[in-house]
Amino acid sequence: MKEYNLGIIGAGASGFAAAIQANRLHSGMKIALFEHLPRAGKKILATGNGRCNLTNLNALSHDYRNKEFAFAALNKYSPEKVIEFFSSLGLMTFSDTEGRVYPRSNAAASVLDALRFGVDIQKTDLITETEISRIEKQSECFVINQEYKCRKIILAGGGKSSPSQGSDGSVLKLAKALGHKLTPAVPALVPLNSEPDKVKPLKGLRASGVELTLEGEYSEYKSSGEILFTDTGVSGIAAMELASSAERELRNAFDPVLHIDFLPEIDNLSGILEDIINAKEGQPLENLLTGILPKQIGLEILKRAEIFEGNAIIFSDKFSDNMIELLASVIHDFALRITGTRGFANAQVTSGGVNINEINPLTMQSKLIPGLYFSGEIIDVDGGCGGFNLHWAFASGLLAGELND
Ligand SMILES: Cc1cc2nc3c(=O)[nH]c(=O)nc-3n(C[C@H](O)[C@H](O)[C@H](O)COP(=O)(O)OP(=O)(O)OC[C@H]3O[C@@H](n4cnc5c(N)ncnc54)[C@H](O)[C@@H]3O)c2cc1C
Repeated sequence: MKEYNLGIIGAGASGFAAAIQANRLHSGMKIALFEHLPRAGKKILATGNGRCNLTNLNALSHDYRNKEFAFAALNKYSPEKVIEFFSSLGLMTFSDTEGRVYPRSNAAASVLDALRFGVDIQKTDLITETEISRIEKQSECFVINQEYKCRKIILAGGGKSSPSQGSDGSVLKLAKALGHKLTPAVPALVPLNSEPDKVKPLKGLRASGVELTLEGEYSEYKSSGEILFTDTGVSGIAAMELASSAERELRNAFDPVLHIDFLPEIDNLSGILEDIINAKEGQPLENLLTGILPKQIGLEILKRAEIFEGNAIIFSDKFSDNMIELLASVIHDFALRITGTRGFANAQVTSGGVNINEINPLTMQSKLIPGLYFSGEIIDVDGGCGGFNLHWAFASGLLAGELND
């Protein structure tokens, strides 16, 4: 049986950060970094559309799920510290106006290379194509796959999202087998599905600056920004950020409703519509809203307000106050029933995972089993789009890699 001081299950973002940290802080420590895919860090290459949005300067004020638990790691390994960590690996970064941080090369491969070459190969064995399917706790060590003995282990195998890139939920099962409670996992940051006949006419259209409210059974969830209609529903960051809430409602047997406000910044929309109707007197009705919304979205709104009729012409005296009010209310509240999401296969993140109550937030060590640590997406912490999830993976990986009791 091969023996190591530390075994890390999962060579993704958080597993690499943990391995480098443990290398640096614990001289003489022999580490095994296990990965079941033929190549380590496959998911990193797909992040940020191939550019890898590796952190966000606003991560400390971001509204993470289970933020109170996550705060110690986020604060100790702040965005500046994560940038410093990458700088120590020779990676140059830059940030955009939203605080999103990317490698200066704009290539995710640079981030993966920095991590791969940052692992001290004298002290660390990167063991790929090795599925970890069994971990037994013995008095002084953990026995992995009946083949490797490790004094300490870090479970860094991610959640269930994007299984083609390796995170298939198998390490969640290992955590459960070791006695940890799991909070049910749902896909997050994934497009929403709606009734096809309602969204198909809008397929391919984008709307920016919209405000979304997802109406659940007892709660409302908000987001804002850009959406993109697809043939099955609604995508775009603002919609994707509501996906985990939608999934949780659906799993509680409630179909949530997505309310889209296309012009949230306008208070006096009826008055503005009245001016537009007067200005467009005699023009085709289908052009009524082209000055404020993409034409096809405007047409669907006119249909919902029961104003659109074939080749009709705009006659201002045909618009009653009620019709204008109704039109304004549909623009402010275009409702779609949400029937599902595009699932784990298409999700960027998993929401849910190892229950935070059983992990020490100051060390990432299990409160149940000394020597067992967690890092990254396997833990029930997730954030929105913008570098927040990789930030959590790196911050929690760096903290777990300290291996403090
Ligand atoms: C398409 C896409 C784009 C994204 N873009 C961004 C972005 O730009 N910015 C951002 O912040 N976040 C982004 N994310 C989310 C981010 O990638 C994840 O939150 C992050 O990678 C989680 O890191 P992790 O180390 O916890 O898990 P993972 O990166 O999932 O790594 C887990 C590793 O463990 C391995 N593994 C799993 N089970 C086993 C097992 N039983 N035995 C051995 N090995 C195992 C996996 O193969 C994998 O390599 C994106 C996600 C996707 C899918």
